[in-house]
Amino acid sequence: MMGFTGGSLISELASVGVKPEEIDAVFVTHLHVDHCGTVAHVQGDTARPAFPNATYSWTAEEQSHWTGSVMDSAFITADQKAYLKGMFSSVEGRFEPVKDGQALAPGLNVISTPGHTPGHAGVVLSSGADRAFILGDAISCPVQLTETEWSGLGDMDPKLARQSQEVVVREAEATGALLTAAHFPGLTFGRVLMGEGRRYWQPV
Ligand SMILES: [Zn+2]
Repeated sequence: MMGFTGGSLISELASVGVKPEEIDAVFVTHLHVDHCGTVAHVQGDTARPAFPNATYSWTAEEQSHWTGSVMDSAFITADQKAYLKGMFSSVEGRFEPVKDGQALAPGLNVISTPGHTPGHAGVVLSSGADRAFILGDAISCPVQLTETEWSGLGDMDPKLARQSQEVVVREAEATGALLTAAHFPGLTFGRVLMGEGRRYWQPV
């Protein structure tokens, strides 16, 4: 997280035969470096997009937050600032801000879930009557399904984050939709179930 140098996304795509040039759309839930650290290759003063033929999307609120006064604050490290600056310059002309509900592709829509960061958003996959939520950091840990007062360690606005979370979780619970979040154990999908008067997490 601090001084991020890249994860395994590129190599995992390669292992299933997908080249970076083949990716045409990249959606990022929010601009914490553990979520956007593979958007660009940044070294010193040079930066290039990791997926040279893609458009890049996140919300306008997220863009305005991370290009605003936070870049002059002590909340983010010098390494993170350098990465974000390089990332912004590498996607210039390829960035397309997205809004709540917007379709990224057929059956793939943005869902606004602010609070963890000001413009945090996830995606909803739809197929017929079935739905699945990919929530980024809108919820940090399955224990938050049971402990409704607990917020995530990194939530910038914990109260708003809890409100966003409640809307999605209530819907997932009512409809039996699948749900996952970026820091859930094993990165697996699961369902929100009710038992003994409390919600709990049932991995699939
Ligand atoms: Zn985050």
